[in-house]
Amino acid sequence: MLISGAGVAGPLLAYWLGRYGLRPTVVERAPALRDGGYKVDVRGKAIEVLKRTGVYETAHAKDTGMRQVTYVTATGGKVAALDADLLMGRRGDDIEVMRGDLVRILHDAAAPATEFIYGDAIASISPDGDVVFESGRSRRFDVIVGADGLHSATRRMAGLDAPLRHLGAYLSICTVPNDLRLDHEEVFWAAPGRMVFLYSTGPDDPAKAGMIFASPELPRASVTRELVASRFAGDGWQVPRLLETILGDAAPKSILNDGAATAAAPTPLGGRQRSTGEASGDDFFVDSLSQVDIPRWSAGRVVLLGDAAFCPSPASGQGTSTALCGAYVLARALARHETPARAFAEYEDTMRPYTDRNIALGRKMAGQMVPGGRVSIAMRNYAMRTLRLNPWHRQIIASVNKPIFEAANAIELPAEATPVAA
Ligand SMILES: Cc1cc2nc3c(=O)[nH]c(=O)nc-3n(C[C@H](O)[C@H](O)[C@H](O)COP(=O)(O)OP(=O)(O)OC[C@H]3O[C@@H](n4cnc5c(N)ncnc54)[C@H](O)[C@@H]3O)c2cc1C
Repeated sequence: MLISGAGVAGPLLAYWLGRYGLRPTVVERAPALRDGGYKVDVRGKAIEVLKRTGVYETAHAKDTGMRQVTYVTATGGKVAALDADLLMGRRGDDIEVMRGDLVRILHDAAAPATEFIYGDAIASISPDGDVVFESGRSRRFDVIVGADGLHSATRRMAGLDAPLRHLGAYLSICTVPNDLRLDHEEVFWAAPGRMVFLYSTGPDDPAKAGMIFASPELPRASVTRELVASRFAGDGWQVPRLLETILGDAAPKSILNDGAATAAAPTPLGGRQRSTGEASGDDFFVDSLSQVDIPRWSAGRVVLLGDAAFCPSPASGQGTSTALCGAYVLARALARHETPARAFAEYEDTMRPYTDRNIALGRKMAGQMVPGGRVSIAMRNYAMRTLRLNPWHRQIIASVNKPIFEAANAIELPAEATPVAA
């Protein structure tokens, strides 16, 4: 079996196929594991997947340990500070980890039974499973899995593509100096149609700066760091310094999250890779807040997984979790059925209600992620200030976040499979 993409879903699928006695191949376009990035939540049933995989404790040890979320005014005055887990809808064993740490953990779990090929990609797939790689090599596979992310090339090659659902905003993120000496704290700043979030895991660690701006869909080539800078030009607080970092680097200027821009200058998030200890804008990433919501996830020998099949968008905070559950369910189906068609049908039947729920959550959350006008920001600030003083604020926030909890748990994970060959 061939898996395209060594992100979250690809390595986990490889791990489980290995556990079922198969030896999959993973091809990753980037020349090395893309283990940089931003923090991601893993919630609900995806935690059970990590436990069954035997990596929960390792992942838990990498929890970012964020303590506090602070809202500030346009000029940086403190509005309110709230408990981070509570506000972000994490409950029980849920964790928040750097995506790169998770990718590394999953890769290491899969490595003993997996062939990893870096710096290559699928160029074409025949109906019989003959795959030609961009390097010119060719091989035959019984099943080809597209776990190659939001802008999946496999999806296009399999004829499963449909326009992404644009959620009305763009999101950029990059490493920046931790000028505020944030210590396990995240700070949110808002202006009409714009939002900045800034966080760090320690006062001596670099920070990550996320910048979100409302926009109709734009041609991909026009979505550059200069565009992001132009949308925040003239803003106050830390914004001028962030823009200085983003623009101060000589890296390629148009960088999106499909690995494509990495061919010449490879990186975890589309820019040139540096260790996380360095504070720089050169891991800059920008992409639309979009969803993948397509009627079919498979065609012939090809099946899609993770963001390639059912991206709920970063607004949902559920893309990692749905990718993890999908990989577990797909591996189980492939181990149980002799024909790909049956395995794909079982996988899709099990996953659809869960992914539909999370895609719906992403649409809803996207509307709340990008601030409206001054009045709605003022109302939100007022609500945050008074909420903090309300003795029931934990219950109120938990009830507002109930849809996240429900979406994160909207699947009954089937028991591990007995492989057909056993
Ligand atoms: C800023 C931000 C914050 C987020 N926060 C959260 C969160 O809190 N919680 C959450 O659950 N999710 C979050 N997400 C979403 C989450 O990162 C994704 O949903 C998740 O990584 C999807 O996993 P995946 O394996 O499907 O795809 P990815 O992790 O994107 O991996 C795809 C892999 O395929 C490779 N690739 C691309 N094209 C090719 C090709 N042609 N050939 C071979 N390889 C290719 C890429 O290099 C990459 O390694 C966030 C995303 C962003 C951008």
